[in-house]
Amino acid sequence: MNAQRDYADLVQRGLSLDLTRGKPSPRQLDLSDDMLRLPTSFRAADGTDTRNYGGLQGLPELRELFAPLVQVPAGQLVVGGNSSLALMHDTIVHALLTPVPGAARRWVEEPKVTFLCPVPGYDRHFTITERFGITMVPVPMNADGPDMDVVERLVATDASVKGMWCVPKYSNPSGVTYSAETVRRLAAMPAAAPDFRIFWDNAYAVHHLTDAPAELADLLALAAEHGNPDRVFVYASTSKVTLAGSGVSFFGSSPANVEWFLYNTSKQSIGPDKVNQLRHVEFLRDPEGVAAHMRRHAELIWPKFELVDRVLAKELGDLGTWSSPVGGYFISLEVPHAGEVVAKAKAAGIALTPAGATHPYGKDPDDRFIRIAPTFPGLDELEQAITGLAVCARLVADEHA
Ligand code: PMP
Repeated sequence: MNAQRDYADLVQRGLSLDLTRGKPSPRQLDLSDDMLRLPTSFRAADGTDTRNYGGLQGLPELRELFAPLVQVPAGQLVVGGNSSLALMHDTIVHALLTPVPGAARRWVEEPKVTFLCPVPGYDRHFTITERFGITMVPVPMNADGPDMDVVERLVATDASVKGMWCVPKYSNPSGVTYSAETVRRLAAMPAAAPDFRIFWDNAYAVHHLTDAPAELADLLALAAEHGNPDRVFVYASTSKVTLAGSGVSFFGSSPANVEWFLYNTSKQSIGPDKVNQLRHVEFLRDPEGVAAHMRRHAELIWPKFELVDRVLAKELGDLGTWSSPVGGYFISLEVPHAGEVVAKAKAAGIALTPAGATHPYGKDPDDRFIRIAPTFPGLDELEQAITGLAVCARLVADEHA
């Protein structure tokens, strides 16, 4: 195969394809069409008029529905607006301005605040911490989660380490699910900072693609068992269950943290969109309803994951390695000179998330990681895009040979 000729052909075709963001496809969004005709009544189970103000913690029936799915007791769960990312952002703002339970002072008064960032990781997490001047320290991801020897050492010895980002299930972008032992160590490890918090972004809690779903241990319960009840902030949302722009989000934690969170939230809002919450309860009904709905998503997106795997194996072979996740939204590709590969793809009309986005400050020291988001395009477009990406990787490899 002549990579230069293949690349010239690719550019000639004048493609315009986008693999940048993990968005649901229109057909996935169609799965929730019926939800837009709900709710049938504006009364919540306890008679609350959902059209009015109030109910800061969210409808009890929605919290009951999601409690087992996100591994948080319903009484310790808060329902937010459509974006869990906004909840994470606001939690950090709250911690900067109001001491979290157990803290000596507000984070804004600390000489230095550090967050551990497993890499490859989610760029929007890193953008939030960067925005607030929080120092980010990368920690390598292994097949069973972050390298816990590194995490334990840093958390035990450095009191500036106040936080850690985690996407524990079908991680963005590698698809890794943390093992039971990794979760146990996160729950049990000693921390130099009494106000150390794990930001447990369980965005893909129910997003299985096969009949063999990954199991995730219950960090919130384990932390309490190990005497660290306030260590964990849990986040999730229905952005990739129902509607990405009109879902509901969740925050869960210990009773003390939930009280702290609601105290801060009460300064911000008189109450959430309970009509949308009720709509979600009527549409999804119960955990089995969520599972059935997620199977319909999987039917649409699993063929896309299989296609990426097949095309990369055929067109890229041993020039790179990639993950083959059984859930979530992303595939992580590792190739040499990732930055150049992404630039070549862009010049050929194939938009990818910038190389380096998987790392804090956008700096991947080995310039290896490319995040592939296969869900949005149709199968034909996806095949063209991945074939084109492989051409770019082969060309760059040739140029460096
Ligand atoms: N967390 C992770 C790990 C994600 O991948 C995404 C979406 N790409 C989000 C959060 C965004 O969630 P939300 O739509 O609830 O803000």
